Amino acid sequence: MNATGQAVPIAEVEAIVLRVPAADATDLDGSSETILVRITDAQGRAGIGEADAPAGAVRELVLMDDVHAWSRGLRGVLLGRDPFDLRALYEDLYAATLYHGRRGLGIHALSAVDIALHDLAGKQLGRPVYQLLGGARRPAITPYATIYAGPVRGRSIGQMMDDIAGRFARALALGFRAVKMEVLFEDLVSDREMVACIHEGRRLLGPDITMMLDFGYRWYDWRDALWVLNRVVDDDIFFAEATLQHDDLAGHARLAQRVETRICGAEFAATVFECREWLREGGVDVLQPDISRCGGLSEIRRIAEMAALEGALVIPHNWKTGINAVAARHYQAATVNAPYIEMFHPDLFASPLRAELVRPEPVIHDGTIALPTAAGLGAEIDDAVLARYRVVV
Ligand code: MG
Repeated sequence: MNATGQAVPIAEVEAIVLRVPAADATDLDGSSETILVRITDAQGRAGIGEADAPAGAVRELVLMDDVHAWSRGLRGVLLGRDPFDLRALYEDLYAATLYHGRRGLGIHALSAVDIALHDLAGKQLGRPVYQLLGGARRPAITPYATIYAGPVRGRSIGQMMDDIAGRFARALALGFRAVKMEVLFEDLVSDREMVACIHEGRRLLGPDITMMLDFGYRWYDWRDALWVLNRVVDDDIFFAEATLQHDDLAGHARLAQRVETRICGAEFAATVFECREWLREGGVDVLQPDISRCGGLSEIRRIAEMAALEGALVIPHNWKTGINAVAARHYQAATVNAPYIEMFHPDLFASPLRAELVRPEPVIHDGTIALPTAAGLGAEIDDAVLARYRVVV
């Protein structure tokens, strides 16, 4: 719908694979490729979205020919429709992909489409996306910086901690007031040595910075996780992420009942249905589904509203390009139970697509970013960067 209330239908849906050449597949960097979904209306406006999932597979799910009524390509469902019908389109896309969708890849593909629809509808109306999500519920955006030193690759724990210390200093210089330390030290440290590393991390940050921890799915036994978390209570940890194996909901529930620290879960979850299991069976305090995987902005809002009824926070995973990054800012603007959003900052971890595809990078001042003001997501693609990394399929 345009500003005069007239519907402007969807005219084209593209799915574009972008990949950084020679990316190291043994690294844990989800931003070495992306699938960009671009939805263009009959007046030439375009909305963009992406999915944090294998780009070629998502592209096929977007562009595929219809097989039958419950197994359709997303593009065919969208053509000719009014992008402003956001929730109705989400339900139609979900129903049209029941056979192969519902969870996992099918929902990841839907996520890219849903983000692009929000961008396009916002541009048609001349309004920022967070207003389509119900309007601002906070005066500013509060990101936390994810600090990841990369795989160990023969380094000592002293070298790993020096690397982390350098990135901490850069994060604070960039204006962050909340930092997540990724303690992915593999078998370099015992649990007792892990406790010492966390104490050192707190000492480096000082007492006034919010500190989170990501254990990278370290433990199989919730009592091992409990042993470490009980010994870092005085480090004032805001949350503990990826403590146990992802699908060990029973272990998460037992851990969450016994520690003071907020326990996270659902990082890889798709849909409100999976997230509901994480609350009912997993008993976690913080859900972390990724907007570009869980079903897009429509679904993350539904997840946040469900979690609010259960006293839980929703702080999404976010490690992709500037598209997913700006989508998270609109989500947080409109959401009370999202005190932080994850920010994978291009000055803290080298990533060509994250650094170059969408500009400019927002300014962080005293821990916060101003609310977005541009229509739609406010993410403009650099066409030269698109051409450089585009994989012709
Ligand atoms: Mg994580």
